[in-house]
Amino acid sequence: MTERAGAPQTAEGPLAEAPLVGLSGVTKYYRAGGLWSRSVPPVQAVAGVDLTIPAGSTVGIVGESGCGKSTLGRIVVGLERPTGGEVRLHGTQLATMSRADRRTARYEVQMMFQDPYAALNPRLSLDRIISEPLQAKGHRAGLARSGRQARVRQLAGEVGLATSQLDRYPHELSGGQRQRVGLARALATSPALIVADEPVSALDVSVRSQILNLMAELQREHQLAYLMVSHDLTVVHYFADQVAVMYLGTFVETGPAEELFRRPAHHYTRALIDAVPEPVAGQTARGTAIRGELPSASAPPSGCRFRTRCPAAQDRCAEEVPVLRSFGDGHRAACHFPLIEPMVEGPAEPPVEPGPGERG
Ligand code: ADP
Ligand code: MG
Repeated sequence: MTERAGAPQTAEGPLAEAPLVGLSGVTKYYRAGGLWSRSVPPVQAVAGVDLTIPAGSTVGIVGESGCGKSTLGRIVVGLERPTGGEVRLHGTQLATMSRADRRTARYEVQMMFQDPYAALNPRLSLDRIISEPLQAKGHRAGLARSGRQARVRQLAGEVGLATSQLDRYPHELSGGQRQRVGLARALATSPALIVADEPVSALDVSVRSQILNLMAELQREHQLAYLMVSHDLTVVHYFADQVAVMYLGTFVETGPAEELFRRPAHHYTRALIDAVPEPVAGQTARGTAIRGELPSASAPPSGCRFRTRCPAAQDRCAEEVPVLRSFGDGHRAACHFPLIEPMVEGPAEPPVEPGPGERG
C-alpha cells in the first residue's frame, strides 16, 4: 500500500487507537433559498448522528429514501460540510486541519456512486478516468507518467477489466463494467475507506453479487473499510459488519448486522424487514409496505420521529425524544416501547452490606 495521511498527533499524544472515522453530533440542515427562506424551516437531512467506522470494517446505513443516508455519506467523504458536530479522521477533526492535510485526507476517503454512468465523464476514456485522481495525487507524490500508466493497468486488473478495454468510453460498457471502473477510480489513491452510495442498486440482479464479491475481495486485500449506504436490507445484511438504521436524519437502531436483523428492537427496523420480499436473517419477511408516508424532514414529528407511523406509539412517544439504549453487545435502539427487553444499565442496586448483627 502507498502512504496514508500520517496518523496525527494531538495534545494528548498519538491517537493510535482512534478509529479511522468518527462522527459526533453531526447535523446537516438545508435551507431553501429565496426571499422568504427565513420563514421556511430548514430541512433536517441529518439531525444529530454519532458514528464510528473502524479500519477494515463495513458499516451499513439503511433506511427509506429521503432519510438522509446520502447526505451522511457526502459528509464523510468531505463533499459537504456539516452544519454542526464533528467529523474526525484518525482522531483529528477535519475542520481543524490545514488545507494541505485536508487534501491528503481526501485521498484516504473515496466515493463510489449508484449510477457510475452519471458519475463518469463520458468524454474520457477509461484509462483517463481511472488515472485522473492519480494525476492530482501524482502531482504531489511525484508519480511519473509511466508510473501512472502501470498503476492504471494494475487497478484495471484488480477490478477485473481487461487492459484492452482501457481505451474505451463509458457508453461502450455494461452497467457492471462501469461500476468496476468506478471502483478502480475510487481505489486509485489507495484509500482506507470507500463510501459506497447504493453501489449495486442500478445493476441487474445477476451482476449485483459479482460487484459485491469483488468489493469484498478488495476489502480483504487492501484492509479497506466501507460505508455502505443502501435502501436494500438484503445487501446490507450480506455485506455489513455493523448496521445503522436511519430514520428522518437520526439513527434509531445500531448494532452488529446479524444481531440487529435477527432481533430488531425498533419498530422501524421491524417494518423495514417486513417490507423486504425475501427473508432476511431467517425471518419470515411479509413483503408488507411501511404504513403512511415519510413526514417532511423540515417538520419532523415531536418526540420519537417514527411515532406517526408506529404501531406501538403511545402518548409518551409524542412528548419525549427516545435516546439510544443498550440491548446488549453493541446493539442499541431509541424506542420507549421496544420489541425486546433492553439491558438494565448501570449498577441496579448497591450491594447490600450485612448489618453488624448479621455477621458470622
Ligand atoms: P437518502 O439518501 O436517504 O434518500 P438524502 O440524504 O438524499 O436521503 O436526503 C435527505 C433529505 O435532505 C431529503 O429530505 C432531501 O430532500 C433533503 N436534501 C438532500 N440534499 C439536499 C440539498 N442539496 N438541498 C436541499 N435539500 C436536500
Ligand atoms: Mg440516497
